[in-house]
Parts: sequence; C-alpha cells; structure tokens
Amino acid sequence: MIRGEMVIDGNWRPARSGRQRTIINPYDGSTLVQVAEGGREDARDAIAAARRAFDAGPWPNTPAVERASLIGRLADLVEREHDELARLESLDTGKTVVESRWDMDDIAGIFRYFAGLADKDGGEVIASPHPETTSLLVREPVGVCGQISPWNYPLLQASWKMAPALAAGCTIVMKPSEITPLTTIKIAELAHEAGFPTGVVNLVLGPGVEVGAELAENPDVDLVSFTGGIATGKTIMRAAAGNVKKVALELGGKNPHIIFDDADFDLALDYVLNGVFFHAGQICSAGARVMVQDGLHDRFVEALTARMQRIVLGNGFDDGVQMGPLISAAHRDKVEKYVAIAMEEGARLVLGGARPADPALAQGFFYRPTLFVDCTNDMRIVQEEVFGPVISVERFKTEEEAVRRANSTIYGLSAGFWTRDADRMARVSRALRFGTVWINDFNVYFVQAPWGGYRQSGLGRELGRMGLDEYTEVKHIYRNHRPQPVNWFGR
Ligand code: NAD
Repeated sequence: MIRGEMVIDGNWRPARSGRQRTIINPYDGSTLVQVAEGGREDARDAIAAARRAFDAGPWPNTPAVERASLIGRLADLVEREHDELARLESLDTGKTVVESRWDMDDIAGIFRYFAGLADKDGGEVIASPHPETTSLLVREPVGVCGQISPWNYPLLQASWKMAPALAAGCTIVMKPSEITPLTTIKIAELAHEAGFPTGVVNLVLGPGVEVGAELAENPDVDLVSFTGGIATGKTIMRAAAGNVKKVALELGGKNPHIIFDDADFDLALDYVLNGVFFHAGQICSAGARVMVQDGLHDRFVEALTARMQRIVLGNGFDDGVQMGPLISAAHRDKVEKYVAIAMEEGARLVLGGARPADPALAQGFFYRPTLFVDCTNDMRIVQEEVFGPVISVERFKTEEEAVRRANSTIYGLSAGFWTRDADRMARVSRALRFGTVWINDFNVYFVQAPWGGYRQSGLGRELGRMGLDEYTEVKHIYRNHRPQPVNWFGR
C-alpha cells in the first residue's frame, strides 16, 4: 500500500534498530501496514544529512525562482495524487474521505502560495543615519528545521511547515505523528520525484519521546516547529533551550463560539455543528465551548439536540456518513474521562455520553455526539481541550459577561460569534483575545492569512507572509562608502 520507510539523505531506509510499528485503521481496528519505527540514532542521521545539505549543498543559495519552481512541481504532484493522498489520510485517521479531499485541495494551494512568495522578497534598503553609507536588510534561511506534526490533520499540518521552510531555502527533517505517518511518507516520495537536492527533505518516523525529542534537543537543528498538545509544546521549548534554537509552536485550543440573542438562529445553529463535528471534534480550533445568550438559550439547545441526534456515524468512505471514529482507543479513553468529569462537576448530559450501540461500529473507536448544558466557567469540560465530539453549553446574559468569560482561558487560538449588530461586531472582535476571530462564521482558515494562538495556544504564526518569515533570519548589511579616520585610540 505504501513504502513504510524513512528518507534520510536521499535514501529510503528502515530503522537502524530494525523496529517496526503497526499502523491501525481507527474505523475497525484492523492493521493497515507496518512502518519503520525510528529512534534517536535515525533522527541524528537525518539531522546530519540536513546539516550537510544546508552548509555545503546548493539549496540555500539556489535562486528563489528555482526553489519556487520545484515547490510548484510538488504542488502539481499533490494534485496528481490527490485521490490517493485523500484515501491514505482517511484510512489512517478515520475522517470522511470528503474531508480528506478538502484537505488535499488546501495542501496543493499551500505549496502554490509559498512557491509564489519564494521570489517576492528582494530585501529592503533602510534609511541609515550616517552619510555615504547604505543599510540593507536581507532575509536568509534559518537553517536546519525539525518539523513535528500531530495526528489530526497529518499532511495539512506537515505542509504548513514544509512549504514555507523550502520556500525560504531551509533544509528539513519531518517527523509525523507515529500513529498517522502514511501521507507524510507519500509526500516525501513526491518531493523526491519533484527533484529536491539530496538531504533537503528528510523524513524520520518514530515516537515523539525519541525522534521528536532529538529534533528539539539536537544543537545542529536551528529551528523546531511543532504542532500538538500544550504539555508536549512546553517540553519542546525546554529542550530547545540547549542551543537557543528558534521555536514555533501551534498548540491546542478551547475555542468559544458565542451566540448573541440577535443572531441568525438557523445559520448559527448550522455553524455550531460545523464548528465541532468535523473529524469527530479532533480539531484544534473546534468550537466546542458554545455560549448562548439567555433569550435564545433553550430554543437553541433544543434545536441543537435534534440536529445532533441525526449525525450519521460510520465508515468515512461510505456515502452519507458524516462522522468517523476517534483516532485511537487511548484517545477515546481520554474523551470518556472528560465526560465522567463533566458529570461529576454538575454539567447536565442531554445527549450522547456513550459509545454507539450499533454492532457494526463496535471494532472502531467511535463515540456518540455528546451535549452538556448548564456548564459554568470553572468546569474542566469548559476550560480543557477534550478533542472529541463533545459540546459544552454555557448560558450568559450580557455582552460584557460573554467576552469576559470567553477570555478567561489559558488558550487563545480562535473564537467566533454571531450577531447582526455592526457595533457589537466591532467591539467584540477587538475585545476577544484570540489569534483568529470569526464574525458570523466559524473554522475558516486560508493560506493567505496567518494562523496561530494568543496565550498558551502557541508561539509564532504559520501561513501567510508571516508563515514564511518564521523560517528566515533577518540580516542587516551596513556599508560605509567613504570611511573617515577617527584617531581616538593611542593617537
Ligand atoms: P502530541 O503533543 O501528543 O503530539 C504531537 C507530535 O509531537 C507527535 O508527532 C508526537 O510524536 C510528538 N511528540 C510527543 N512527545 C514529544 C516530545 N517529548 N518531544 C518532541 N515531540 C514529541 O499531540 P497530538 O495528540 O498528536 O495532537 C493533538 C494536539 O495538537 C491537540 O492539542 C491539538 O489542539 C493540537 N493541534 C494544534 C493545531 C494548531 O494549529 N494550533 C493544529 C492541530 C493540532
């Protein structure tokens, strides 16, 4: 089905230890394929290859137009392999193949966007305060980049890192989540076909605590870019301190979705569902924290319950299926733990809170869409990321109260709200302290706009112009055209 090996210095390789990992289909628990399970020694080999390719290879000094053309070729190959990539992504993650196809559309667009940006920056001349001098600012590639990605959007998250790094002239070592490596293996194959020079694109498979930790610690890595959970992000930040490498972090979210009394009821309802249930709620920007104003609350909860009852679970490859399984048995345990905590804390369960009864789904890691009401700000179900098909609903009275409560979180990735009042749109969008704020919409992102979090949701931004800047260092080049004697010392 796919070659289960790593790419180091242009060669496909098994793990040095010979270890392998079984990749599981979350839909039915069946084995998909065996892949190499690399360790620290494989990561070190890949880092050394990326170091050589950066320090002695042609890539950092390849003219930007040529880098752009190779990245454009990779976008063509992603388009050619669109359906196969989508199939692999759905087998690996359980998400519906319709969603995976959308991801692949986006991914081709991400490579095209950064190919387009690669040759647009010719540096900048700034006003020097000294006569007969010139000051030039140039951006240069940061160097060797370790890129650690999560299991929920395996190739999408990898491409957010890969495309700008290559556009900037960096060399990379990719490390996908050990449980969802298939599409990242495939893109490494496509990068090889596109013709990137040896050692520019490396791929190491294996557990985070070994391969990821090596990428974070190794002094030959100049930047580590990580998408995943907060606890892992903190570990990586500490590990990166050894050589003060640059750190880019895209961490979790607990994203408020606020429905004011003057909202368009039907649209808000539809978007609350869209905001949570794609990929069974395993989305960093899921709007799982729903806040509804008093006047609409009861009617909204009733309508939400009715729609949630009709969500169709099943095999993501079947027509009509709207929601697949969770990623793993261990992750379903975590979701179940949060449901139990919510009940202990006094949230009222309206729907779900259990695995589906359908025997056809019994082998997969399914969980029913779950709705809690009477939730309060201090509950863990409101404050912590569940990462599953679980909504908590809070009731609020005033705009000021909604904003204050929405902001009272350690996270700051995204938030959205529904209103018809233009003054309120202006006030609330500025008052909410999140990296992205949606007005009358939810969960929209595109490559032209930067993405990232306030507070503990992360550090830095991916996508957009800023997503490219993350992979560059800025150098100030100062030239004195007519140096004059100073004659200060020992005159
Ligand atoms: P995770 O933190 O468990 O793992 C993410 C990656 O880090 C994996 O590749 C893993 O192998 C690696 N890793 C684990 N321990 C490591 C260590 N000690 N050192 C280095 N690397 C290590 O996260 P996950 O469960 O795969 O993904 C879910 C999380 O990702 C959620 O919190 C979600 O919100 C977040 N996420 C954020 C965004 C965003 O854009 N902000 C996007 C997608 C997912």
